[in-house]
Parts: sequence; C-alpha cells; structure tokens
Amino acid sequence: MKTIKHCFIWIFLLIGLQACEPPAATDDEHAATGQRDQIDLIISGDTIVTMDAARTVIEDGAVAVDDGVIVAVGTAAEITAKYSAKQTLTGENRVVMPGLVNGHSHAAMTLLRGVADDLALMDWLNNYIFPAEVEFVDAEFVRIGTELACWEMIRGGTTTFVDMYYFPDTVAEVVDSCGMRALISATIIDQRSPDAENAADSIDKGLDFISRWKGRNSRIMPIFGPHANYTLNAEQLAATRAAADDAGVPISIHMSESPFELEYSKQTFGMTSIELFESIGFLDGPTIGAHVVWPTEKEIGILAERRVGVIHNPSSNMKLASGISPVTDMLNAGVLVGLGTDGAASNNDLDMWEEMRLAAFLQKVHKMDPEVLSASTVLRMATSGGAEAVGLGDKVGSLAVGMRADVIQVSFDDVHFVPTFDVISHLVYVADEQDVASVTVDGKLLMRDGDFLTIDTGRVTREAVDLAGRIQAALAERNQ
Ligand SMILES: [Zn+2]
Repeated sequence: MKTIKHCFIWIFLLIGLQACEPPAATDDEHAATGQRDQIDLIISGDTIVTMDAARTVIEDGAVAVDDGVIVAVGTAAEITAKYSAKQTLTGENRVVMPGLVNGHSHAAMTLLRGVADDLALMDWLNNYIFPAEVEFVDAEFVRIGTELACWEMIRGGTTTFVDMYYFPDTVAEVVDSCGMRALISATIIDQRSPDAENAADSIDKGLDFISRWKGRNSRIMPIFGPHANYTLNAEQLAATRAAADDAGVPISIHMSESPFELEYSKQTFGMTSIELFESIGFLDGPTIGAHVVWPTEKEIGILAERRVGVIHNPSSNMKLASGISPVTDMLNAGVLVGLGTDGAASNNDLDMWEEMRLAAFLQKVHKMDPEVLSASTVLRMATSGGAEAVGLGDKVGSLAVGMRADVIQVSFDDVHFVPTFDVISHLVYVADEQDVASVTVDGKLLMRDGDFLTIDTGRVTREAVDLAGRIQAALAERNQ
C-alpha cells in the first residue's frame, strides 16, 4: 500500500509539471466537485501484478492510461474516483500485468515452422535453414512471416520483441502497422544471405536501415544483429561494434550457444566466445546476448560487469540439444537475464508462457533443486527483467506511473485456474497464450477478447498458406 501512495504522490507531481495543460484536480477538489479527469483508457482486474521494484500486487485494481503512458495504478475505487476514461476494459476474473518481452526471435521464420525438425544446430543451420533462406526468403516472405509472428505474439500477450532477420525495413513496416514494440536487427553475416553478399555489404546496408528508422517511431528501435562468432571473424565483429557505436544503437548476437561454437571458438580464436568478445572490445557498448548456454565462471563475471543482457531460450536449447544454460548462476552473479522464444523453426512456436514454465523446470532438474528458480523470478525474467536485459527497463516491463502503457489482461476463466491459491504461480505454471484476453501497447488496444484490431488475420492466413505451399513444392522438386 505504501508504494501505491507513493504512486499517487508522483502522479500529482508529474501532472503538475505538464505546464501546457490545465492543472489536474487535487484529491480535495475531486471530493468537493465530484469531477474526474478525462483520460484515454482504464484497464481493470481482480488482481494487478505490477512487477514494479517492490513487486506490488493490488487486489481489485485498475491501471489508468493517457496519451500512451500509465498515469496511475491503484485500487479500482481510487482510479474510478479520480478518472473517467473514453475506453474501459472491465476486470472480472482477469489479471492485469505488463506485456511480455520476447528478447530473442527471428519472427519471419514462422514460415519455416516444421520445415526441418529433430536435427543438431549446425546440421539444421547449414543443410536446411541457410539454403532454404537463400532460395526462398525475400521481402514478401519477411512481410508475411513477420505478420504471422506478430499475430501469434499479440495472441500470447507479448508486447515487445527483439528480432534478428533479413529485410529489416520490411520487419519495421510490419511492426509499425501491427502496433507492437520491437528492437529490429539488421543481420550481419559473412556469407551470401537473402539481403546481402557478405559481412561488409550487410554492415553498409544495416547502417542505411538504421538511418532510415532511428527516431522515426518510438516503438521501433533499429539495431545491429551480427549473427555469431562462427559466421563472422574477429575483424568483422569489431567493425560491427564500431558501426553500432557510430550509429548509437545496441547489438544483438548469438552467444555461447552450442558445444560446436565452444569448440570452434577455442580452435579458431584460442579462447571461448565471450572471452573473444571481451578481448576485442565488442562488449563495451550495449549488447544483448542470445542463449549463453556454455559460459565459464570467468565469462559470467564478464557478462555481469559489462551489463550484457542475456536472453535464455529454453525451448530452442532443448529442441536443438544445445545444452542447459546456467541461468541461476548468472542471476546470482548479477547478470541481467531475460527470456526469448528464438525463431519458430527451432521452437516451434512463439509462446512466452511455455518459455517461462520450461525455464523454471529446466533449472530445477538441472540443479536437482526445486527451490532454485521460483515462479516469481521467472515472471520477472519475462517482464521487467527482460525489459532491463534489452535496454528498455525504464520504459516497459512494469506497471508504474510514467511507464509506457504496454499492458495485458489474462483471463482466469479457464478450468485450469480453478482453484486459485496463488496468482503468480498460476501465471507461470498454468497460463498459456490462449488465456490472454487483451493486449495494449503504448495505450493502444491491439487485441480485445480475442479480436485482433491491427492485423487482418484472414488475409495473413491465406498468404502464409499460399507461400508455404510454394516452398513445399519447390523443396519436393529439389529433393527428387
Ligand atoms: Zn536465434
């Protein structure tokens, strides 16, 4: 309750600072006049799980949103006494919480879902994924695949994602229109790819992409995505860091993912991946490291010191048998750890609820200790912790005054929530993407009661089925 009172003090300070607008009524004035401030949206719930620093949970609460920003969080009685809203989301049997942060994805790979399963990472990449991408991936593929991914992520309550794929302008256009928030990488790789000839060409094209999108839309952050240290040499990695620093953008990269990478790195560079990155100054700027399955104790220290945002992808690590990431060791060492789905070809879906559950289960069985990673910590990894790991901790990931209004409602109507002793436990160990009832990003509704308000799902389905049919026919012909 103390935190809630603090929230209200801050609201009044913030509202008072908005010099261009008439000053908001004080508590006494509200009581005296019965007048309420007009705002855009009120989102109500039986329980508000704020994921703020104090992990405040409010029973029978509401979140007040105006101009894309959270202006108040409190009990429903407090909020409705102060505000009247143009739009209201009722909260019976619903939990309100921050939207989920998917820290690592290759969104358009939804179109390669199931194209090659049950293979090791390097066999999968070199003999199936890379050749299929060179043959089939163009801007149209990326548009349809990313629309499909955004639809799936909105369905599951993901509001922010970090993407690494080709034709990043097309990804950005889709994110712009679907209303999500994303860090979108220009992929840097030293081989012929769908949108570049080699590393130097992909860096040049990446810089052009970043200059087109930086500062254009506050929901879209263009970044660099060097693929890995086994698809780029040390000079190319350093050149990418220098380009990112010049452009003032972060980097997202696959890091210490598989035993193959570990061996390759030792043989090629005489050191492990994260040691290499540190030795060339690659970690001096903001960096998001995907996977980090095989860090040494020394490397965990480097990750903590350099404030690298580590993204744990349990489904992908299990499916490709990459290994078990020492998530709790990293958390205990102070490393920022978030969660991701990876692409739909190695998962095979974009369900963050499944990642939460698997992250918890995998650590418990890995350490043979059921207490090692709690539901509460995992929920933090998918929300505020994930937001910190991708550099957006001051904007999203928690419900607090001044944060961008990326808010979801989870319906607790389904039988699997009966009975409910502990809401946090149910969110992590029971909920799935079908339970998400509404999704709001920047104060704008993207899904309401299962209706998608920014995506033409019928058109996307037709286009995806048509394109997948053409890929399947071409693969059948090639394999004859
Ligand atoms: Zn990946």
